Amino acid sequence: MSQHFLLSSASRTFSVVKIAKMTEKQAETFFRKIRWSDTNGKPVCPSCGSLSHYNLSTRDVWKCKDCSKQFSVTSGTLFSGHKLPLKTYLLAIAIFTNEVKGMSALKLTRELNIQYKTAFVLLHKIRDALLETRDEAPLNGVCEMDGAYVNHYVRPANNIEDRVDRRRFENQSPNKRCIVVVRQRHDGGTEYIGSSRTLTYVLHNENPTGIAQIANVAIERGTEVHTDEANAYDNLHAHYNMQRVNHSVEYMSEEGACSNNAESYFARFRRFQHGQIHRMGNLYISNYANEIAYREDTRRMSNGEIFQDISEKCMKTIQSNEWTGYWQGNHRISERLGA
Ligand SMILES: [Zn+2]
Repeated sequence: MSQHFLLSSASRTFSVVKIAKMTEKQAETFFRKIRWSDTNGKPVCPSCGSLSHYNLSTRDVWKCKDCSKQFSVTSGTLFSGHKLPLKTYLLAIAIFTNEVKGMSALKLTRELNIQYKTAFVLLHKIRDALLETRDEAPLNGVCEMDGAYVNHYVRPANNIEDRVDRRRFENQSPNKRCIVVVRQRHDGGTEYIGSSRTLTYVLHNENPTGIAQIANVAIERGTEVHTDEANAYDNLHAHYNMQRVNHSVEYMSEEGACSNNAESYFARFRRFQHGQIHRMGNLYISNYANEIAYREDTRRMSNGEIFQDISEKCMKTIQSNEWTGYWQGNHRISERLGA
């Protein structure tokens, strides 16, 4: 039997130690080369695109000779106005990269000796970068689609006479949400290697309208789609080659219908939910769900490649108003629901 990919040296091409040994100047150079890859790290004014600038020696800030605006390597990016040393952000990305089942903000507070809010915002900025830069081109080939509930648990009352029927709508948790995952199976010929692309969405529940809207944006018409027997997927028969598997009877039908790739996604997601972060606020479920999709899709990349990819995504994502002034009470106000 061949060696598992994650045990091979090809899977580990960098380490946190390597980042920890960097100087602040080297961390800045790293970010510059990612941000201004076309000029090999030479600063380009984010306001007017000019290459001429003065070096302001007091800080790592440049002043544009053409428009006189000052800028740094992080201006206009996710890390704009950063307060921590750049190396700390690189360390955060490095630790985030290696936590294959996701990580909690509390863990990052300990790793970097930073406050909880700082760690929470930093992790969510990275998650935002993953979501903002995800490839939303519709999936094709052979896809699987499934849903799973979060924040739905209602604790039964202590005394049996006080307990309610938790299947009834009025007794369910108002915080209940459904994560819908669509995965495109890897086209690897006869070799079975799981999925190659994953898209996630959040609904109030697994309902026919929401499912149809998601399929409409996430899956090309005519694609072979594997789902379970839930009636929310019945409407998809009009536009897709549907393959259904009845999970109360079997995990794979005789015709080969199965949603095992979708189940693999939820397996990692549940480990993240129950084993790492414990509490999943509804405002951020879309980010959490997509983070696990990213981790599933990059599972066969080396950690050095993933680190580079996440760093690039962070530098490409423009500063979001959602996270500026988080400390002053500016919080996200609405959930990202549906397609
Ligand atoms: Zn300029």
